[in-house]
Amino acid sequence: MKINRRDTVKYGVLTIAGCAMAGFGGQLKKYSADNFTGIRPPGAVEENSFQHLCIKCGQCVQVCPYHAVSLKDITAGIDIGTPAIYPELRGCYLCDLLPCVLACPSGALNHEISDAHDVKMAEITVSNKENCFGLTNITVSEENVLKIAAHGVKSPVEKELVEKLKLTIGQQCKICSDFCPYPEKEQAVKFIETDNGYYPEIQQKCAGCGVCIELCPAGNVFSYKKI
Ligand code: SF4
Ligand code: SF4
Ligand code: SF4
Repeated sequence: MKINRRDTVKYGVLTIAGCAMAGFGGQLKKYSADNFTGIRPPGAVEENSFQHLCIKCGQCVQVCPYHAVSLKDITAGIDIGTPAIYPELRGCYLCDLLPCVLACPSGALNHEISDAHDVKMAEITVSNKENCFGLTNITVSEENVLKIAAHGVKSPVEKELVEKLKLTIGQQCKICSDFCPYPEKEQAVKFIETDNGYYPEIQQKCAGCGVCIELCPAGNVFSYKKI
């Protein structure tokens, strides 16, 4: 193949652009991995496959009655446009039939998963048990509930959630267990009794939905790691 002067310049420019893109892509990947926060919606396949399969259509966002799912913004690098749940703002309430999974057209959310028992979204840890109201002997306040209500009360299920939370005002807090959406709650979280009170312990069947993280009025008792 004969390459003339014009081609040399053209290929040179393309090579430089290609290298720049590769470098940029590398940076984006690193940026994304280093800054990953939040968890994927229920039924998400393994992360590499998820990134290939998700077409960023936002169907899972549209159908979530708790407004728990949002699409990542530009700060997420190459993850931009993919769905995430941020448990500090709103956990996943493991709705019947998992509508987000049903709505996903691409298989990024695995259609074989249709039940809370099959869901594993994150590893939840009790990282600051000493802050639990069960040990500090603090009762749930109106302010605590208002803070959670600020996460959103647009849909009927969100309104119902806040109404149920209001019933805890003035009570000893057991919110993380009482509001855990796993069908057999005691297999997901249970309380350990001590001479000074009680604190939660995460159990094997915990779905990693993040509801306890969202609702805990003490704020930082739990932490999570995406799986
Ligand atoms: S519905 Fe599926 S393909 Fe669409 S954004 Fe959600 S996970 Fe991605
Ligand atoms: S929600 Fe659970 S961990 Fe948080 S203060 Fe209440 S009992 Fe303690
Ligand atoms: S303990 Fe319950 S509320 Fe907390 S993440 Fe696990 S399943 Fe969800």
